[in-house]
Amino acid sequence: MIVMKFGGTSVEDAKAIDRVACIVQRRLAKNPVVVVSAMAKVTDTLLTMARAAGSGERKTALKLCRSLQERHYNTASELLGTALFTEFHSEIGGDFEALDELLRGISAVGEITPRTTDHVASFGEMLSSKIVAAAFAARGINSAHIDSREILLTDANYMQAAPQYEETDKRLQSKVAPLLRAGKVPVLGGFIGATRSGVTTTIGRGGSDFSAAIFGAGLGAEGIEIWTDVDGILTTDPRVCPDARRIRIISFDEAAELAYFGAKVLHPATVLPAIQKNIPVFVLNSRNPDCAGTRITTRAPQGKNVFKAIAVKKHITIVEVAAPRMLLAHGFLRAIFEAFDRHKVAVDVVSTSEVSVSLTIDSNHAIPALAADLAKLADVKYEGRKAIVCLVGENLRETPGIAASVFRELADKKIRMISQGASEINLTFVIEEDEAPDVIQRLHKKFFSELDSEIFA
Ligand code: ADP
Ligand code: ASP
Ligand code: MG
Repeated sequence: MIVMKFGGTSVEDAKAIDRVACIVQRRLAKNPVVVVSAMAKVTDTLLTMARAAGSGERKTALKLCRSLQERHYNTASELLGTALFTEFHSEIGGDFEALDELLRGISAVGEITPRTTDHVASFGEMLSSKIVAAAFAARGINSAHIDSREILLTDANYMQAAPQYEETDKRLQSKVAPLLRAGKVPVLGGFIGATRSGVTTTIGRGGSDFSAAIFGAGLGAEGIEIWTDVDGILTTDPRVCPDARRIRIISFDEAAELAYFGAKVLHPATVLPAIQKNIPVFVLNSRNPDCAGTRITTRAPQGKNVFKAIAVKKHITIVEVAAPRMLLAHGFLRAIFEAFDRHKVAVDVVSTSEVSVSLTIDSNHAIPALAADLAKLADVKYEGRKAIVCLVGENLRETPGIAASVFRELADKKIRMISQGASEINLTFVIEEDEAPDVIQRLHKKFFSELDSEIFA
């Protein structure tokens, strides 16, 4: 069997969902399980309405809810036609009543917690998966909608919940595998799960890719297909650099580094379950389904180019922790990292000197609490509006002098922290955020003008 995941733009309207049905139809012999994201922008709208309700703006929240309802109804009726839509209507109608009630409740309390946020956010995938399953059925695909909250068990770390694999795998075997054996096409929402006591959770923004990989690993898939709106993993973000080219094949390690350092095309956790079960992952374009996309596997040929791709992660803050005297000695680093750990702030790049440590973080909301904690240890300075640029390629290990040629290209730029990643397959540095487009374009021109056609398309 295979898992096919369709992202927000791939299910953004009736036309897109129709394309999805055609793509799935062509894969029926492979026994697909289909995982879908919320329709494009829906998660953002749900989060906006949750915040509005939480700050007492009930009318705004309910208005947004009605516009979402209209969009989903229109899409469903276009896909199903009048007769089938009438049948289906009450199904999603009930969801919108529940959402409306939830928003009224939140605005009455005037507070939004991570737990309620997840409840609101879950409607996006709940609704899209029901619509897609119904559209499949209307097109003769023997589909079966499954509520992912009955499959994906997570902890209670709302908005960033961690999957509990053992129980999830058991449920996949007992609830999804039998449907596959009966020749059905199970359709599930990505991104959402539930705790053991049944409270709705989400596994982090962009998490539908991760859901697909978890389901694929649990069901022993022969492949996991991530269908999106570009031809595959490209040499850089095509919005920054329109010359970006498709990578035909890339290793799990390289893809993981790229995803971690900002290549939005893949959620960073996606490759973990796939690596463990050695399942190839394919990134494909639902608007151009005949394109071969990108294949991600354990070992990939490296070709003649040093780098596979450039990623950029924006909205980075540098935290500089300066000890008054030579205090970086024993215990100091531990105390600093413990503070980051207590506030659940992930650190991306670290550099140390005799008297200070610089770290980069990407979550601004945690800064006030973290600052108060760190101030007890040392002098702390914050600098926002930075970006991390990360060049990735396994050939980096064997190529001497590469840092020199990268930074020669950027001789007029203010380069902050530099690290030749611990994994040995990335070269990472920090720059001013507004310089990111120029830096990426220059590096792309330098390192991706002549490409090995075995690796790049
Ligand atoms: P989906 O909704 O299908 O999950 P996303 O918006 O999350 O899609 O990811 C796809 C987008 O990722 C592309 O439209 C592209 O703008 C962006 N992107 C960033 N870096 C890359 C890259 N290296 N290769 C391909 N796409 C990239
Ligand atoms: N709908 C969720 C989001 O926008 C999950 C996903 O699309 O992967 O973050
Ligand atoms: Mg995505």
